[in-house]
Amino acid sequence: MNESWDLVVVGAGPAGASAALAALHAEPSLRVLLLDRADFPRDKSCGDGIAPHCFEQLAAIGVTGVESGWTPLTRLELARGEQSVARTMARPVYVIPREVFDARLVERAVDRGATFRRQRVTSVDQLPDAAVVVGADGAHSVLRQHLGLPYGRRAIAIRGYAPTPAGRRGTQVIRYGDRRQPAYAWAFDRGDGLSNVGYGELLPSPGTDAPPSRALLLDQLELLLPGSVEAGEHWKGHHLPLSGWRWHQPDGRVLLAGDAAGLINPMTGEGIYYAIATGIAAGRSAVRALREHTDPGALHRHAVRKQLGTHLKHTFVASRLAEHAVIVDGGIRVARRDRRVFDELVELGLGDGRISGRLVRGLVAGLGRKAVTGLKGDR
Ligand SMILES: Cc1cc2nc3c(=O)[nH]c(=O)nc-3n(C[C@H](O)[C@H](O)[C@H](O)COP(=O)(O)OP(=O)(O)OC[C@H]3O[C@@H](n4cnc5c(N)ncnc54)[C@H](O)[C@@H]3O)c2cc1C
Repeated sequence: MNESWDLVVVGAGPAGASAALAALHAEPSLRVLLLDRADFPRDKSCGDGIAPHCFEQLAAIGVTGVESGWTPLTRLELARGEQSVARTMARPVYVIPREVFDARLVERAVDRGATFRRQRVTSVDQLPDAAVVVGADGAHSVLRQHLGLPYGRRAIAIRGYAPTPAGRRGTQVIRYGDRRQPAYAWAFDRGDGLSNVGYGELLPSPGTDAPPSRALLLDQLELLLPGSVEAGEHWKGHHLPLSGWRWHQPDGRVLLAGDAAGLINPMTGEGIYYAIATGIAAGRSAVRALREHTDPGALHRHAVRKQLGTHLKHTFVASRLAEHAVIVDGGIRVARRDRRVFDELVELGLGDGRISGRLVRGLVAGLGRKAVTGLKGDR
């Protein structure tokens, strides 16, 4: 096959589809090949929680209405043991099965002129000739391996679908567990009578403890959200490559996006926003590099670091702090007292947030109060 493409995108999840969409938005005549080992629609193990930031990013490249027919969700409940906070979020999120959401994005990319082809890529040599390649092939990325980049910390999670109990309609529920943090169970109402329910936790470093079994993950879910396991079906698990302090992208013509780029929020396990944002950055960098005859890898690295660099550092620190139960409890208490802190925690967990002075002061004051109460209790 003697083919030549301007851009080949490997993986047609949110990262890959967004890369194709952004590239064609910037240059409609670009020859774009979008490869995936699966045909679409295809299922993907996920909580299906889609942050408002995703729709903003997509709107910026002329993609609107992918949430059409699904119900916005406004209420978030966070709990650990006896501590809990339930509030209305500043902006609604959507819970859209990935089977629907991802297929809509691929359809838009094809409408815009991308060629979709079903192909499992096992090595870079198999790819047709292309000026730029985007590796958006998920948590076990062949393209990332090709670049010789290791992953940082990883989590594992399992999800199923269960009927939504009346008391949880319109709500996203998160209940933290006691195992390796981040560890939590969730129930996200889809708005169509079903909820996405699941549980995930940090994986041990390779070669140390055994990874948690499927049975253990489901036991934890049942412990934190009783009744979910019996009511649920379509269970599916997957790895989550969590982001670290600094994000890496080498020079050259292979650009990484989404999970392949090791970008999942280490506090919350959310990765769709990063996938869309970095997919768009990759598509734009590809077009710019072709126009200006510059290095696409360098352009992509600068664009992503500019957009997400500070936020990634803040979420990294927040996730390390959240390994301590006392901090999680403190965060929940402060968020219950102060709606601005609640909004900031949501922003940090979903998208582009920072650890603010207000959040730190709230936590310190809360810890101080707890210490004083503890001392009084000791007497
Ligand atoms: C249980 C669970 C719950 C989660 N909950 C949420 C949530 O509620 N909200 C949120 O924002 N994030 C959540 N995440 C994270 C989110 O699912 C990912 O961050 C997101 O899917 C990343 O998108 P992506 O396009 O990078 O990768 P993917 O969505 O994994 O897409 C990668 C694509 O590449 C294809 N592919 C893989 N290998 C090859 C190959 N060798 N050749 C060709 N094609 C290939 C796959 O078929 C797939 O279509 C969750 C993850 C898990 C596991």
